[in-house]
Amino acid sequence: MMDGEFYKLFPYKVPVWANHLQSIPSHFVKLSNLNTPLHRWNLAGLPEGVEIFIKRDDLTGTELSGNKVRLLQILFAEALAEGATHVVTGGGPQSGHCRAVSLICRSLGFKPHIVIDGVEKKADLGSMGNTLLYRMAGSKLYLAPQENYECIKRRVKKMEQFISDTYKEKCYCIPLGGTTVKAVFAFISLFEELLQQGLHDRFDDIVVTISTGGTSLGLAVANFITGSKLGVHAVTIGQPKEVLYKDMNGLLHKLGLDSVKSEDILDIIEGYIGERFGTATDEVLNFITRVSSTTGILLDPYFTGKGALGMIGELENNPSRFKGKRILFIHTGGIFGLFNGEMDRIIDKEEAVTNDITSWPDESVSPVKKRT
Ligand SMILES: *Cc1c(COP(=O)(O)O)cnc(C)c1O
Repeated sequence: MMDGEFYKLFPYKVPVWANHLQSIPSHFVKLSNLNTPLHRWNLAGLPEGVEIFIKRDDLTGTELSGNKVRLLQILFAEALAEGATHVVTGGGPQSGHCRAVSLICRSLGFKPHIVIDGVEKKADLGSMGNTLLYRMAGSKLYLAPQENYECIKRRVKKMEQFISDTYKEKCYCIPLGGTTVKAVFAFISLFEELLQQGLHDRFDDIVVTISTGGTSLGLAVANFITGSKLGVHAVTIGQPKEVLYKDMNGLLHKLGLDSVKSEDILDIIEGYIGERFGTATDEVLNFITRVSSTTGILLDPYFTGKGALGMIGELENNPSRFKGKRILFIHTGGIFGLFNGEMDRIIDKEEAVTNDITSWPDESVSPVKKRT
C-alpha cells in the first residue's frame, strides 16, 4: 500500500460478472486492510468428515473492523459526494456498525450522531465495549426506548431531518446495519475476494451471521450470478426470516434482479437468537469461551458467537441443509462486544478454563527447580 492511501477516495470497480446489476457505486473510501486471510478452523467435536474454514473479516482493521467497514467504504464515499457534514445512524449499545461510523466520521471530518435503541436513561448507557468507543469519538447520542424493528428504522430517518433542520447543514443518513442497495456491492466484492482465495473449488457451503441482511444478500447474489455453486446460509441473531426476506427482496428489485427471490438464493437459519437481539445466554458465553480456549479465535456474544453456534447446531442436527462438508464461516467481527461485561457472568465459575488461577507459590513448593 502506498503512503497516504488510507481515507482516500477511489473509483469502485465492480466485478465483471456483476456489471449488469443496477445501482453500482461510483467510488469508495479506503478504510480497511484487504484482502483478509482465510484458514482452517480446528473446532472440536464436529460431525464426522466436516471441515470448517474461517474468513477473517474480523481482521479488516482494529477500531474499524468487521464486515461493516467494507460497506462503510462505499457509503462514506456517497456522503462525501453529497457534501454532507453530519452523519446519523443507529443500533443497539453494542453495535459494531455505530462504533465504526462514529470513528470514521472523526477521521473524515463529519459530526457523528447515533440513535441508540433500547436504552432509555443515561445511567443505563454506561461506557463498556462499543458504547465506550461511540463516546470516545464524541458522537452525539440519542437514547430511544426499545421498539420494533420498523420503528427503529423510522427513527434514524426522522433524526436525519431533525439534524439537517437544527444545524442547517446536510446530514447523511446510514440506515441500520448500513444495509442499502449500494452497500450490497461491498459483499459482492467480498465474494470476488473469496473467488481469488479458491472459493468455488475449496468449499461447499458458506455460513454467515445475519442481522440486517446486506452481508448475506451480497454473498447470495454473487453466488447466484457466478453459477450458484455453494449453499449460502445465514444464522439470524435478531429478525425472523420473513422480515429479512421481505427487506432483501426490496434490495433485489433495486439491483435489477426482479426475477430472483431471496428465499431461493439464501437459506436463513432460525433458532439461535436466544432470549432476543443483543442479549446472550450462558450457553453462548460458554461456547465462545470453549472456542477461544481451544482455537484462539475470539467470537462475540451477540453476533458471531450465535452465528457459529447456529452453524455447529445445524451441522449436527440438520446436516441435509448443507451442500457438502467443507464449510466456510465468515467471521464478521464484533470484537468490542466481548468487553461489555457480559462475560463476568461465567468467568469465575468453578471448573471454567477462565478460572485456572494460582497465587505465586511459596518458595518451598516452587515448581522451578533451584540450581545447586
Ligand atoms: C452487522 C453485523 C453482522 C450482520 O451483518 P448484516 O449485514 O447486518 O446482516 C454480523 N456480525 C457482526 C459482528 C455485525 O456487526
